Amino acid sequence: MKILVINSGSSSLKYQLFNMENESVLAKGIVERIGIDDSFLTYENGSGEEIKIEKEISNHKVGIELLIDTLLSEEYGVLKDMDEVEAVGHRVVHGGEAFAHSTIIDDQVIEEMENVADLAPLHNPPNIMGIKVCEELMPGKPQVAVFDTAFHQSMPEEAYIYALPYEYYAEYGVRRYGFHGTSHGYVAKRAAAMLDKDFAELKIITCHLGNGASVAAVKNGKSVDTSMGLTPLEGLVMGTRCGDIDPAIIPFIMDKEDITASEIDTILNKESGLYGVSGVSSDSRDVEDAAENGNHQAEAALKIFNYRVKKYIGAYAAAMGGVDAVVFTAGIGENAIDTRAKILEGLEFLGIKIDKKANDCRGREQFITTDDSAVKAMVIPTNEELVIAKDTMELVD
Ligand code: ADP
Repeated sequence: MKILVINSGSSSLKYQLFNMENESVLAKGIVERIGIDDSFLTYENGSGEEIKIEKEISNHKVGIELLIDTLLSEEYGVLKDMDEVEAVGHRVVHGGEAFAHSTIIDDQVIEEMENVADLAPLHNPPNIMGIKVCEELMPGKPQVAVFDTAFHQSMPEEAYIYALPYEYYAEYGVRRYGFHGTSHGYVAKRAAAMLDKDFAELKIITCHLGNGASVAAVKNGKSVDTSMGLTPLEGLVMGTRCGDIDPAIIPFIMDKEDITASEIDTILNKESGLYGVSGVSSDSRDVEDAAENGNHQAEAALKIFNYRVKKYIGAYAAAMGGVDAVVFTAGIGENAIDTRAKILEGLEFLGIKIDKKANDCRGREQFITTDDSAVKAMVIPTNEELVIAKDTMELVD
């Protein structure tokens, strides 16, 4: 069975075509700069070379048409007919409270997604657009939505209700939803497999540390808390997002700088985090380089980043009444050796003993604690696309 996975953003569209018989990737790439000048599609089909097709891609429909033509191309395609593709799986950022699981898409599902679009105005509309265009270009082919929020729908009320007037929850849906759920769920399950223990009996803290970053507490196979909130702004320090701050800072800065709500929103989302503190870059590698060269702000940015993750690990161990494993994933979690070491440093009281040699690894599944460490820590590369493909296959089967 072949499954196409689509992650449709406002100006880009990522795709992967899976052969689910052996879970291999037949082709993958990205359509970039949709609706902007210099648009193009990149495409890899396992032959080792990346093909770049430059073409005017005025909208998502043109982009997906180009993708289909590429997959079917006689020269470098991997399909003879689109009928070989059994179903399409879509990443959808916000499922609100309506979706605790992946689901086959029908008109009612699209309506529900549209109902929560104001909770993710930058993401849900382009996600929905990708679904509608696929329906138009591949009529009758089953389509499945996999939500970033779904895994966290198991959180108890005390973890998701904010201490605001209750009517904001009741009327506007203001609550913690959490994101990166597909990733947290996947790596938590892999951690149970690595430990050779029952997922339903473990307490796992998963640290998804990428450009966007979040931590989740996964108890007995279910998310019981996570650091992102109503939007992906809350929680950890991220590439350009501030994470947790005193909310009183917002009116204070608005007043001092004489700026609007939308301007402060841009500052908190796009000009803060590693970038804002370091003044150097949102990319952790650039910040590390600057810190090594003695840049104080860059050093401070990294220390704040690590300290915030450490605090969440402590908090979630308390929330779950203990912890069996701490997992690191995503760009920083999978690659940044020093960051992992600094986060785990001083957590011996929790039973975590880092193995410096084992921690000297990147991008592969690996325990990074000593054999006698009561609590294990590990690196587990995430694979959200594979989860989307698997969920899609299960639902259409
Ligand atoms: P996104 O949220 O955009 O998917 P990623 O998971 O790709 O983000 O993570 C991007 C982050 O990972 C960047 O800060 C980048 O510096 C970091 N990263 C990627 N590779 C490495 C590496 N080899 N060493 C350290 N950090 C890395």
